[in-house]
Amino acid sequence: LEPSYQFMLRVVAPGGVATPTQWLTMDGLAQKYGNGTLRVTTRQAFQMHGVLKWNLKKTIRTINDTLMTTLAACGDVNRNVMSNPNPYQSEVHAEVYDWARKISDHLSPRTPAYHEIWLDGEKVLDSTEGQAEVEPIYGPVYLPRKFKIGMAVPPSNDVDVFSQDLGYIAVVENGKLLGFNVTVGGGMGMTHGDTSTYPQLGRVIGFCTPEQVIDVAEKTVTIQRDYGNRSVRKNARFKYTIDRHGLEWFVTELHNRLGWQLEAARAYHFDHNGDRYGWVKGSNGRWNLTLYVQSGRIQDQEGYLLMTALREIAKIHTGDFRLTPNQNVIIANVTTPKKRKVMELVEQYGLSDGAHQSALRRSSLSCVALPTCGLAMAEAERYLPVLMGKLELILDEVGLREEEIVIRMTGCPNGCARPGLGEISFIGKAPGKYNMYMGAGFTGDRLNKLYRENIGEAEILDTLKPIFHRYAIERTQGEHFGDFVIRTGYVKAVTSGLNFHD
Ligand code: SF4
Repeated sequence: LEPSYQFMLRVVAPGGVATPTQWLTMDGLAQKYGNGTLRVTTRQAFQMHGVLKWNLKKTIRTINDTLMTTLAACGDVNRNVMSNPNPYQSEVHAEVYDWARKISDHLSPRTPAYHEIWLDGEKVLDSTEGQAEVEPIYGPVYLPRKFKIGMAVPPSNDVDVFSQDLGYIAVVENGKLLGFNVTVGGGMGMTHGDTSTYPQLGRVIGFCTPEQVIDVAEKTVTIQRDYGNRSVRKNARFKYTIDRHGLEWFVTELHNRLGWQLEAARAYHFDHNGDRYGWVKGSNGRWNLTLYVQSGRIQDQEGYLLMTALREIAKIHTGDFRLTPNQNVIIANVTTPKKRKVMELVEQYGLSDGAHQSALRRSSLSCVALPTCGLAMAEAERYLPVLMGKLELILDEVGLREEEIVIRMTGCPNGCARPGLGEISFIGKAPGKYNMYMGAGFTGDRLNKLYRENIGEAEILDTLKPIFHRYAIERTQGEHFGDFVIRTGYVKAVTSGLNFHD
């Protein structure tokens, strides 16, 4: 008998956009072949767990039939291109999303192997004898490591643009998209105890027009392809390539490959990196409802039938769904006549728009970790809500329930929930034990710093309680928690990954 292997399956959704038909397909597959739940990842993709080996092919074929794909959702290629779901400025969202899709398509691997293996496609031979595949961008050996791209629309930095290998910050004037500031060299992953690895912030290198974004993305990827470290995998990400050669070298190399130069960066301003919940009317007159999804897990639980509710909404919805970078779901582009019906379903199932959640919970992010991620050293998705329940009691005591504090947890230092950018973060070290970090910028523009090592729940609560008490009394007007712990000397400010371990 063959062992009953089961798989995690990730589906690419550039910008996190899915049609109601695609939603219903993913829901149906999760019920039929998965573990009956879906997960919104921190990169706006769908994740399905518990797919048995003999159901894998059928699942992937069905996904493909609805014009979605698992191709390049993993691997040493460009991953799901993130973009701000932005329900406020509909036209800008449509344009930015369109560019995210185009970048995603352009950087998609061309290999026919995917279609041969999963879709029973014919093997297509290149005219060059003996060469079965041509990868014009990736070449014969692909990238040294995965590559991540995100597009932010200020004032929201919900995609955490500075955590991306390559980031684009939209420059919008009078409702018109002028272009993008370009950032390079961000990334969250590191290895415990190895100071040659560190999280890093992307740096702004200039401005390009919308029509130039694909060229910039392609040339940047080819530079990483040619100069990335292929000998030491844990130093293979693009951030290390830039830090090894220097930013000036990269910009010169990029300009040489482009054959033109980026313009000087334009002014921009971020307010936050979280989601804004509830109903919002877009500039196109359509409505958008951002729902709170705890840890990105879409499931039916006793007393809260989230998965059923979203299925019922998808059956009558004529707009789209948007998976947010903070693992929530937007029911987007709802027409005024449909809004009443959607509201009825939202009320019938008691769906949460975050209003009854603490500000801490609304600003939280966790990776999947145990039991489904093989790299996890500790819990994240299942434990963060428990820990937040205990932290909320302390925050209630000192009147901080409505204070937004960005809190993140991952099961290992790979950084899938962008823990380097949490005002408070926990990175798993062993079952029940975490390294605790503090001091990231509220808008995602500064890294945090290690404050306590290898601590369990009791120490976490004992550590944070006096800090919350001081924060409640001593914070200045509008001062965010990350800024407070730096001003009051708990941790030093980290504005570059090169100082992360100092
Ligand atoms: Fe990513 Fe590590 Fe979390 Fe697994 S445990 S999802 S690799 S951060």
